[in-house]
Amino acid sequence: MKEFKYFIIFGPPGSGKGIQGKMLAQKFNLAYISSGAMCRNIDRFVKESDIIKTTQERLAAGQFLSDELMSKIVYERLAQPDAVAGFVLDGYPRTLVQNESLVTKINMQFVLAMVLDVADDIVINRIATRLSCICGATYGLVTNAPKVESICDACGLKLFKRSDDKIDVIKSRLALYHASVDPILNFYAQNNILIKVDGTPLPDIIFESLIRQVNRKIESRNKN
Ligand SMILES: [Zn+2]
Repeated sequence: MKEFKYFIIFGPPGSGKGIQGKMLAQKFNLAYISSGAMCRNIDRFVKESDIIKTTQERLAAGQFLSDELMSKIVYERLAQPDAVAGFVLDGYPRTLVQNESLVTKINMQFVLAMVLDVADDIVINRIATRLSCICGATYGLVTNAPKVESICDACGLKLFKRSDDKIDVIKSRLALYHASVDPILNFYAQNNILIKVDGTPLPDIIFESLIRQVNRKIESRNKN
């Protein structure tokens, strides 16, 4: 039996891939690894002070980490026992260079990539109408509206609009996403280890269809 144990999740900003990634990790008892969350809390994940300093400086300046640095951080995490047993990777790889590096680090036989498909105009509309809370919760207008208007369900604070949730900013983030991630998706599609999931319905519905497709992949692989 050839099961998958390394999942890589892709999706445009605002696609809810973090939620899906966490649900998937929970269902299959895998480590959920978000490169973005790791970078924001870098001092919790690495000990080397030069890595911590460079990461924090680059993030504060709104810059990306170099492929080399990003890979180093992620591989340190992947080497931990819970991740060796299996993981859901979110936010990495983000460049072809990172992807070429990753495929030499893990056994590709166990890899399944997935992408949440959301059309650009839907992404733009979702983010442009999104409200955030300082506790980290986010709300939409329709699919995930707060119970009381403009108030966070989780903590009761007033919701606000993030300054980077503006249409121009979203458009340039989307363009960057396609330029960097589409070629990586091509790689997984060509190797027949990519599943595409409609990312527009409610999270539970998306997750059902994701699991259905994962199971289908496992079945078709076990037949061969
Ligand atoms: Zn809140």
